[in-house]
Amino acid sequence: MMRTHYCGQLNETLADQEVTLCGWVHRRRDHGGVIFLDIRDREGLAQVVFDPDREDTFALADRVRSEYVVKVRGKVRPRPAGAVNPNMASGAIEVLGYDLEVLNQAETPPFPLDEYSDVGEETRLRFRFIDLRRPEMAAKLKLRSRITSSIRRYLDDNGFLDVETPILTRATPEGARDYLVPSRTHPGSFFALPQSPQLFKQLLMVSGFDRYYQIAKCFRDEDLRADRQPEFTQIDIETSFLDESDIMGLTEGMIRGLFKEVLDVDLTDFPHMSWDEAMRRYGSDKPDLRNPLELVDVADQLTEVDFKVFSGPASDPKGRVAALRVPGGASMPRKQIDDYTKYVSIYGAKGLAYIKVNERAKGVEGLQSPIVKFIPEDNLNTILDRVGAVDGDIVFFGADKEKIVSEALGALRIKLGHDLELLTCEWAPLWVVDFPMFEENDDGSLTALHHPFTAPKCSPEDLKGNPQAALSRAYDMVLNGTELGGGSIRIHRKDMQQSVFDILGISAEEQQEKFGFLLDALKYGAPPHGGLAFGLDRLVMLMTGAQSIREVIAFPKTQSAACVMTQAPGAVDAKALRELNIRLREQPKVE
Ligand code: ASP
Repeated sequence: MMRTHYCGQLNETLADQEVTLCGWVHRRRDHGGVIFLDIRDREGLAQVVFDPDREDTFALADRVRSEYVVKVRGKVRPRPAGAVNPNMASGAIEVLGYDLEVLNQAETPPFPLDEYSDVGEETRLRFRFIDLRRPEMAAKLKLRSRITSSIRRYLDDNGFLDVETPILTRATPEGARDYLVPSRTHPGSFFALPQSPQLFKQLLMVSGFDRYYQIAKCFRDEDLRADRQPEFTQIDIETSFLDESDIMGLTEGMIRGLFKEVLDVDLTDFPHMSWDEAMRRYGSDKPDLRNPLELVDVADQLTEVDFKVFSGPASDPKGRVAALRVPGGASMPRKQIDDYTKYVSIYGAKGLAYIKVNERAKGVEGLQSPIVKFIPEDNLNTILDRVGAVDGDIVFFGADKEKIVSEALGALRIKLGHDLELLTCEWAPLWVVDFPMFEENDDGSLTALHHPFTAPKCSPEDLKGNPQAALSRAYDMVLNGTELGGGSIRIHRKDMQQSVFDILGISAEEQQEKFGFLLDALKYGAPPHGGLAFGLDRLVMLMTGAQSIREVIAFPKTQSAACVMTQAPGAVDAKALRELNIRLREQPKVE
């Protein structure tokens, strides 16, 4: 071994000891005849001092530049009083350098590493190997490793087996597009990369493995709106002979243990909330419970009003009219309200009605709003009472199709919570349960809300009779408005699985062709089973406070699903394509 210690591990207890460090020159300073080198490795920095008495070493220290790779031998000594740096793990000591060896030189890096630099993300990703040297990035990857190791330990201790499943496989319907890989040995046929190990983990239950986990790569070719990656990592879990509450209890314990161990945070017990309640009160199936604002339904007060914008949705069974009270919001300037109106339009809202409550005692006179004139005073008062409006508040309204209102006001609620700094605590976990089995598409057809292997709460007959009303045995773990994980009890009977496929409009042939192996497995002794999967990247993002999942993935793709460092995806030469039996529609551009 070349080094005796990591730089960041040096402290007072090592005073007078000789150490050897290996790392990168972070900074070089010349101070009245002595040279200071800050040496950096993954654990942190150490300051090494070179005196002119050791002439050769001193001369070499004078020549090294940023990012040279060096090996230093020297003696640890306390820093002189006044020179202690409390911001540095090794800030109470320094190393008096005896020898210095340059292991490799480095060109001037494309961006400075010694402070937070606002170079564009593209540049950082292109030189990711340098970007990851930044202490901030190293800290995130180290935390990620601690997280996976804590999780593995918990699952190992609870009798879970780590089993790998194939990457070259068939489509798994999780609602995204597949990444396809052409087969050379089966011309014209393609593998799909797994959107999740869902079917394999269920088959492992049929095989009797009882408790499975895998830290698994999943691939989804989605339009990369928001913060998604084409390949991402799941902590994938499946169990047999456990019910919802067992599985939720077990995995809640895992997350609670993880937060305690890694962040020293004691999470509260996770409340359970039905999907319906979450949508009604928060307009979201992943409510951020740190935020005290709530949506309140008021359609019943507005069916008769002489204002189509309200009365229309209020009378429509698929419509919704909801109010959102913002304490103290009456002082909001017009400009800010306009900005929020623009914001909700992203979600399809055609406007954002509001009432400023200046002085309730004055009745309608005390309200400031373009819409009060349309609403009878009794109804107005019922609405204001229902939302708990007091002087100084503003009440926003959404009226439209249910989905639009929930999404628009749900998003506005989140934005207001951040803008007005309303969050009441740091961590707010919960379970969302009682999801609908299906979602209705615009053409009336149904899509599985989770995936088609999720068990319903009802019998196959009831399911067929009224699929729209059926609830599933699914559960999502939500933290601070982010879905950390989700899963369900699965269908373990063939007839039920076929009923669900039927409802989804998958023909008998297609069922056989795509899922024949699953239907077979359900015939040969499938135990009751269920599980869930956590999104590791999002979990790490929340725990590190990172702004994007790209910040916690060593080598992420850009928003357009490319790797700017390796230049992937890349062109393939004609021979390789011929072997794969592929002819391109357009010739790839020759670079
Ligand atoms: N396979 C599901 C997913 O990827 C998780 C699960 O149901 O276990 O979201």
